[in-house]
Amino acid sequence: MPTGAYRGRFAPSPTGLLHAGSLVAALASWLDARSRGGHWLVRIEDVDTPRCVPGTDAAILAQLAALGLVPDEPPVWQSTRSALYAHALARLLAQGHAYACACTRADILQALAARGAARERHAELVYPGTCRDGLHGKPARALRLRTDGAVHVEWQDRRLGAQQQDVTRAVGDFVLKRADGLWAYQLAVVVDDAAQGITHVVRGADLADNTPRQIHLQRVLGLATPSYLHTPLVPGADGEKLSKHNGARPVDTSDPLRVLKAAALVLGLHAYGEDVRTWLADATQKWGAGWHDVGSIAKPRDLSP
Ligand code: GLU
Repeated sequence: MPTGAYRGRFAPSPTGLLHAGSLVAALASWLDARSRGGHWLVRIEDVDTPRCVPGTDAAILAQLAALGLVPDEPPVWQSTRSALYAHALARLLAQGHAYACACTRADILQALAARGAARERHAELVYPGTCRDGLHGKPARALRLRTDGAVHVEWQDRRLGAQQQDVTRAVGDFVLKRADGLWAYQLAVVVDDAAQGITHVVRGADLADNTPRQIHLQRVLGLATPSYLHTPLVPGADGEKLSKHNGARPVDTSDPLRVLKAAALVLGLHAYGEDVRTWLADATQKWGAGWHDVGSIAKPRDLSP
């Protein structure tokens, strides 16, 4: 039974089944929680409804269960938590931290071009701040968080070490509620991590550059910042992060030990056991002892909270 104050979570988006890459984050978050006697929760992040595939939520929970990764509390679905997000957004608006924006993507591109701001391919658009001072009669589309006044966030990742980002320059005033009415990931994740009392976030390194935005949002909302650990990514055939688009296949749970061992290898962890239960117990003990004992990529001190 979990006893400690530690609360961790795995937060899959039900856009596809778990693959070798997403399983690494699931296993790492479970091991970190277990090795500290903590609670491990699962949150289904289904706010981006057009990208969600019906039935995938239940299938992900079944994949996790087949691997022995069972949450300590009933899973929650973000689609049922709109009232919490609306409440946080109303506070941000009332306090002047958030504002309505009328810009289309074409408007943003035009404003950036007019400033001579070169745009990198695939890079996120840094919002030029057009609607910061009001809509000037135009209809509201998205809602954004202000980052004027030079928001610079420094944080410590348990694996990656000291990190920092100039949020104002790197991403600018970011979206909290999208023009299509859907909640943005940044707002939903910050509100939920706080509402669920999450103390430790363990997730894939592809999300690391979202962390400064989330820490800034936590500070503006007066919420605690959890500790962060971003796990190594599994490369796909094209060398990019493994995803549905470059050949990721759903994890086949018919041989759970093989699947768990493959995920553990990415974490530099070699555990032993005849069955899932004993293997997970050994892996938990080794994780708790620190990766350095098991051929790790991280130095021991990186693992402290
Ligand atoms: N739902 C996100 C994803 O599947 C993860 C969010 C998080 O762990 O903060 O990529």
